Amino acid sequence: MRPFQLHQPEGLDEALSLLEQYGTDDAHLIAGGTSLMLLMNLGLIEPSRVISLRRVSALRGVAAKNGGAVLEIGPLTTHRQVELSPAVRAYCGALGETFGHVATVRIRNQGTIGGNLAHADPAQDPPPMLIALGAEVTLTSRKGQRRLPLDQFFVDYLTTVMEPGEILTAIHLPPLPSGTRAAYLKFLPRTHDDYATVSVAATLRVDGDGRCEDARLALAGAAGVPLRARAVEDALRGEALTDQRIADAAALVLDVVDPPDDARGSSAYKRRMARVWTERAVRQLRDQANGARQ
Ligand SMILES: Cc1cc2nc3c(=O)[nH]c(=O)nc-3n(C[C@H](O)[C@H](O)[C@H](O)COP(=O)(O)OP(=O)(O)OC[C@H]3O[C@@H](n4cnc5c(N)ncnc54)[C@H](O)[C@@H]3O)c2cc1C
Repeated sequence: MRPFQLHQPEGLDEALSLLEQYGTDDAHLIAGGTSLMLLMNLGLIEPSRVISLRRVSALRGVAAKNGGAVLEIGPLTTHRQVELSPAVRAYCGALGETFGHVATVRIRNQGTIGGNLAHADPAQDPPPMLIALGAEVTLTSRKGQRRLPLDQFFVDYLTTVMEPGEILTAIHLPPLPSGTRAAYLKFLPRTHDDYATVSVAATLRVDGDGRCEDARLALAGAAGVPLRARAVEDALRGEALTDQRIADAAALVLDVVDPPDDARGSSAYKRRMARVWTERAVRQLRDQANGARQ
């Protein structure tokens, strides 16, 4: 690995100044280091300066607002902290469970939610669940701040809309309409601690007659980015959730998925699994909603 100088700013302003001073060609941010150090070990990234965010304590932690209806998560919060946070569990149990699916406890104690999003590997677990819940992110630079929906954050494999000089400074979870149910299903045919072959995050709200009021679906491992399946959502909204309707809607995911061949399966296999696991996620939430109505 190329030698580098480590900077450890104590605050966000100092981190932003360092980033501006040295530029993104020369300097790279690090949070938990679980992804970055692998890329540096492989020589794929060779910064001469590494700017650590670890002492920027204002970027760490889960804040519940509006009586817990809204969450603001700092990017330095580890996967394990999100997984175990009572505020997260109270907001949406499936969100905490999703972070419990990331790798192993060792990785979860080190890797951060901000590093996960900024790394932008499309097979990672948190992005689809956060997209299905309508999360937004704040990006901060010396020029100011911008806030955007997470489903507009990812551009391509390991690529986001972040501009040079920007730091991801917050993840926002909006209020969930009453009766919203959520699930995250991760298909792991190899080992328990692997990345997903495909995974599906879903939220569903059903009215008193069993019709779908709203649905949001997003998948990991199914394309170059975490993928929002809007066609499936549109095919469910307003409909009675029969098994046939769910199967027909889930089949529409085949129009949008474009998974790569890799060690976790061929593209054709992952396409089929995307349909199967989408159908399972919606049926699971439909059955929970029906059970609660009886
Ligand atoms: C063995 C192993 C198994 C894994 N398995 C899974 C899995 O099953 N599911 C899963 O979802 N993930 C998995 N991961 C990925 C893991 O979740 C990520 O590595 C981790 O979340 C990245 O966070 P980090 O803090 O370590 O980021 P770092 O490695 O420090 O940084 C990653 C990238 O994000 C940038 N960055 C970090 N913080 C910010 C910020 N606030 N603003 C802007 N840019 C920032 C860095 O510059 C770097 O480019 C696995 C990783 C390993 C090593």
